[in-house]
Amino acid sequence: MSHRIVVLGSGPAGLTAALYLSRANLPPRVFEGMQPGGQLTITTEVDNFPGFPEGIMGPELMERMKAQCERFGAKFEFDEIQSADLSKRPFKLKTSSDVEIEADAIIVATGASAQYLGLPSETRLRGHGVSACATCDGFFFQNVEVAVVGGGDSAIEEASFLTKFASKVYLLVRRDKMRASKIMQDRAFANPKLEVVWNTNVAEVLGAEKVTGLVLQDTVTGAKRELPIAGLFLGIGHVPNTQPFKGQLDMNEAGYLLTQSGSTYTNVPGVFAAGDVQDHVYRQAITAAGSGCMAALDAERWLEAQSH
Ligand code: NDP
Repeated sequence: MSHRIVVLGSGPAGLTAALYLSRANLPPRVFEGMQPGGQLTITTEVDNFPGFPEGIMGPELMERMKAQCERFGAKFEFDEIQSADLSKRPFKLKTSSDVEIEADAIIVATGASAQYLGLPSETRLRGHGVSACATCDGFFFQNVEVAVVGGGDSAIEEASFLTKFASKVYLLVRRDKMRASKIMQDRAFANPKLEVVWNTNVAEVLGAEKVTGLVLQDTVTGAKRELPIAGLFLGIGHVPNTQPFKGQLDMNEAGYLLTQSGSTYTNVPGVFAAGDVQDHVYRQAITAAGSGCMAALDAERWLEAQSH
């Protein structure tokens, strides 16, 4: 299938790009990825997206953005890009359901995904007590003890949310201080169901069919001990979804796409990047949406220039 322009990703960046393109008479094909709507679909209330004074649920915000795009002609595919050949135009893309696509221009808005520790026992028990989304899975941990790994705002947010269900939440922090903002730390310290465990790494996740506990290691003394818990939640940051573009699009050492200053241009003319896939600093829905708008305007002008 050949397209003038495709948008990869359906978070705030991809959907804002799709909206602006559609309204510029360039309705794109949007490849939604395996998590349509992106990270906001696994959050609850969004209180910092302008225009919603009472707040709005993340999934609803994304449904509304998608409906707005469809109103102006954008078309959606529940599929994701597996490989890409950006060496010449039209660019060639292949999806995970083996569909081959050609496109004159691409907006990459594939976002970032939750990071895991990388322990074999953690991988084996994913979905059986190991989760990277408290808002998705917290409900299943009523009146049991759980642990959250991480010392950033996400970890505290997850841990605080989990105290609504769990009888106790351990927040496992690998250093003697947290990276999280002061206000979030104060919230954690004030919560009687939340206990911060400092200088602690997870060495192993225990359990045959489901999580029964953790082997913890003191990062100062190296001493190990077991902590019985029923759930392990990861809150240790994200990795950008840039695998299909390795070796073709310029990235930083963490894999985030590099764009030319003040624009959404990547190193390949005709390929633009927006949202968390190119932003490891701000990572907000509104900044992602803003850069999605920029990518659409950049792409529209670039396509226009090609046709002269
Ligand atoms: P951060 O990168 O801020 O924090 C990641 C945390 O995970 C750090 O404490 C880090 O420890 C820890 N960590 C990383 N790898 C490991 C590991 N292998 N084992 C144990 N711990 C590990 O990511 P967040 O997702 O928390 O936040 C991302 C951005 O989003 C931030 O700018 C944050 O402020 C923002 N945010 C804001 C919220 C709000 O305001 N309500 C809510 C959620 C996020 P170390 O410090 O030692 O490196």
